Amino acid sequence: MSMIIRADLHIHGRYSMATSKKMVPEVIAAQAQLKGLHLVGTGDAFHKGWLKLIEDSTEEVADGVYSIKEDKRLETDPDLPSTNQKPLLILTGEVEDVKRVHHLLILPSLEAAHQIRGKLRGNLESDGRPKVRMSGREIQEIAHENGCLMGPSHAFTPWTSLYKEYDSIYECYSYKPDFLELGLSADSDMADRIEELNNIPFLTNSDAHSPWPHRLGREFNEIEINRIDYPSLEDAIKDLKIKSNYGFDPRMGKYYLTACTKCYQLIPVKKALEMKMKCPCGGTIKKGVDYRIEELATWDQPHHPPHRPPYIHILPLAEVISLVHGKGVTTVFVQKIWRKMLQLFGDEISVLINAPLEELQELDPKMAPVIRSFRDGTLKMQPGGGGRYGKLVLEPEKAEANTQSPSRSTETNTLDEYFK
Ligand SMILES: [Zn+2]
Ligand SMILES: [Zn+2]
Repeated sequence: MSMIIRADLHIHGRYSMATSKKMVPEVIAAQAQLKGLHLVGTGDAFHKGWLKLIEDSTEEVADGVYSIKEDKRLETDPDLPSTNQKPLLILTGEVEDVKRVHHLLILPSLEAAHQIRGKLRGNLESDGRPKVRMSGREIQEIAHENGCLMGPSHAFTPWTSLYKEYDSIYECYSYKPDFLELGLSADSDMADRIEELNNIPFLTNSDAHSPWPHRLGREFNEIEINRIDYPSLEDAIKDLKIKSNYGFDPRMGKYYLTACTKCYQLIPVKKALEMKMKCPCGGTIKKGVDYRIEELATWDQPHHPPHRPPYIHILPLAEVISLVHGKGVTTVFVQKIWRKMLQLFGDEISVLINAPLEELQELDPKMAPVIRSFRDGTLKMQPGGGGRYGKLVLEPEKAEANTQSPSRSTETNTLDEYFK
């Protein structure tokens, strides 16, 4: 008997740089439940303080998977559909190698985490995502010696990915990685233009740095699995049992197009090269994922292998509500509407994809037409680049007004209220 679970296998805890202090196991689990996830990566499994938090607040309920202890659990929402079950955690961690390439590891046990800590060369306590003085090959060796799954994180981004450094995964690794994480600015249509990736499963994970619903689970995988434990996840990934990838339209990602990393001006690659990748504002221009894949591509069109699952484009629902109503995404106003929609329709995916438009219209007349245009593919987007996310554009003239610097989030102000 197998089942299909929703898993987000890459997040960061409170000890990682630029990460919300609210990223602690019990909050992550409670939020994952609201998002309808069954399995979430712990992130940061090589950080001593983070491991201690995991050991203190969770208990192992099956081989390599952990549940929040009864007395540590947060009340999520009594009005939510009871089908949203308590999610389990699995140990994951990200490591930056000596070439500034990021690798994602999925670990079989706490013991493996402690073992690997003893072998990584670098300061493991300064950041939840440690920088180590080791090559991709050396990290791959250690990962496999300790029974982990490993692959490149956000494989095409311009600062810290495998393909910003190498033209082939085999220049970085000794042998085939267990998976490749696409990152927010790519999808499988883009990655399947590269021949060497055809026999590798793709993962779509959120890389969330805060527990808000437009971050945690903003990308996830549907995986066919025999039971929720590490050996079954390992089998599922190795046997290519990923059934769907859910993720952003790549245009919504931060690095989709070539752009300046300081003023975020989008600049055509040819012009950027003429400008020697220097923007008149003084900033550095970075190649977008779109262009990087163009450079690496074997084929003009995607060649999907038979095992490749569908890639389903989704949007962070809370962000859509925020835009439609002109209120901050972390405000009580937006979070209330978001929860109301979950109560009525079960989860975000149902709201975006299946919920009857008449019912949506009744609930929120401003949201219904936007969801309709999302479904028929006519929703406009201003592509992201240079480190700034893409944006939904509700009216054509708004595209111009949106070129201001991104609004800062105000997470810490209302989070307590939100979680009570
Ligand atoms: Zn990373
Ligand atoms: Zn600039």
